[in-house]
Amino acid sequence: MQTTTLLIIGGGPGGYVAAIRAAQLGVQTTLVEAGNVGGTCLNIGCIPSKALIHAAEEFHKLSDYAGDSPLGISLQSPGVDIVRTVAWKDGIVTKLTGGVAALLKKHGVQVVKGWARIIDGKTVEVQPSGGPDNATEMGQPQRFSCEHLLLATGSEPVELPFMPFGGPVISSTQALSPASLPKQMAVVGAGYIGLELGITYAKLGVKVSIVEAQDRILPAYDAELVKPVQAALKKLGVALHLSHRVSGLTESGDGLRIVADQNPETVLPVEQVLVAVGRRPRTAGYGLETLLLEMSGSALRIDDQCRTSMRNVWAIGDLTGEPMLAHRAMAQGEIVAELIAGKHRRFSPAAIPAVCFTDPEIVVAGLAPDEAAKQGLDVVSAAFPFAANGRAMTLESTNGFVRVVARRDNHLIVGWQAVGRGVSELSAAFSQSLEMQARLEDVAGTIHAHPSLGEAIQEAALRALGHALHI
Ligand code: FAD
Ligand code: NAD
Repeated sequence: MQTTTLLIIGGGPGGYVAAIRAAQLGVQTTLVEAGNVGGTCLNIGCIPSKALIHAAEEFHKLSDYAGDSPLGISLQSPGVDIVRTVAWKDGIVTKLTGGVAALLKKHGVQVVKGWARIIDGKTVEVQPSGGPDNATEMGQPQRFSCEHLLLATGSEPVELPFMPFGGPVISSTQALSPASLPKQMAVVGAGYIGLELGITYAKLGVKVSIVEAQDRILPAYDAELVKPVQAALKKLGVALHLSHRVSGLTESGDGLRIVADQNPETVLPVEQVLVAVGRRPRTAGYGLETLLLEMSGSALRIDDQCRTSMRNVWAIGDLTGEPMLAHRAMAQGEIVAELIAGKHRRFSPAAIPAVCFTDPEIVVAGLAPDEAAKQGLDVVSAAFPFAANGRAMTLESTNGFVRVVARRDNHLIVGWQAVGRGVSELSAAFSQSLEMQARLEDVAGTIHAHPSLGEAIQEAALRALGHALHI
């Protein structure tokens, strides 16, 4: 039996950040990971998806220029070798996961490769799974006793019971490493993954249909924000089947049966079906149930210090439910490490920004006008369109806007929303203004570089104050 102060199960953005910070603070730390460090985010999530989104965007842009470019650029019809694209994406993943492994080593974190199983709140058994970092003998389970146990086991994709993953039915993991491109693909679910990857495949020349149970795409976002994305889908030729349910594959496997209320069933021709109907916390297969921890729905319940209902058992990231975002997991990981090292911390962010990397991109931070109203706040809101922003024109990206939401009485900013090309990079400004409790006057009085998309932030604040300059 080995002893350690902190044992972390899961080396995703939650677990590896907690490990690095704990080790920085002198806490003896062991991290158990069954796969590669970096978790879903670096290996099969955030980074690989953004790499493919970029490649598809570049290909699509060149294909456009090969038609009739208003910029005066002309070129021959471009091609895409998807095997090389995937290899390029894999290279980025390897660089990043290798970097995380090096950081863990530099800080003296003991990384154990293998599948962890909880024996009790202070004992974990690891079944080695081999690999270069594996310090234990192959096949010999190893026991660890710890003072603190941090659970960071992440999430897994939800399956449709009548259409499990396998063959033509794929999850985001397979969609991020295609060996070849299908001619037709149906995507089930118009949420984050369905839209990010649906748009990617459409830009790579695949005929994409999206089937969504709700009556609009991205139902979690407000309708105004989603409109430019819906228009872009139409322009790309993506077929949208809203308010439709999927009933299964046809017997021959090359058709997807879909149905809407009171309408007869229709069949979409498909080579592949990407099922992206959500992710759920990973709670099974490692003895979690033996701890009898309090749950909140399908997620582990935690308090504002990421403590579970058992003393010295902590949990972070996707395992603890929505929002399932990498930056939330990282922030929680850092806090738990600092608490274990004796610091006083709480997880109470003013906002957790969210970006949907569609074309155009969507960013939200804090409250939308209707959410503020639901909380009983009397707010003003104002939007500035990119159609009136010079930089957006030079980038051929005039579709979209930045919107600010602030309290009417004291002008405290409570939320930002934006839709447009490249607006993901505005998320930092949004979060900072919320975390620093900026008022409309603070943002309106800050000099924003010209020409930049960021000027729309200042102009939105000016407009909320009633004196926008450029509209
Ligand atoms: P994970 O990253 O899931 O890591 C958990 C780790 O625990 C895994 O490596 C797993 O192997 C390991 N593990 C589990 N059980 C055990 C066990 N018993 N023993 C040993 N190891 C175990 N979020 C964003 O913020 N921005 C994005 O752009 C974004 N894009 C995404 C795109 C896709 C396609 C997907 C699927 C997700 C995306 N996400 C994005 C979500 C993001 O990946 C997750 O929120 C984040 O990875 C959660 O981090 P985590 O540390 O909680 O868990
Ligand atoms: P999601 O919750 O974003 O979207 C799922 C969609 O599927 C919803 O619109 C829902 O109405 C629809 N749906 C559910 N059941 C259905 C059915 N039977 N038929 C048709 N439609 C159905 O889930 P996701 O896209 O799978 O992504 C999972 C999670 O991963 C996200 O919630 C997010 O936390 C994370 N993620 C984040 C990013 C990002 O930050 N850019 C990108 C990808 C994934």
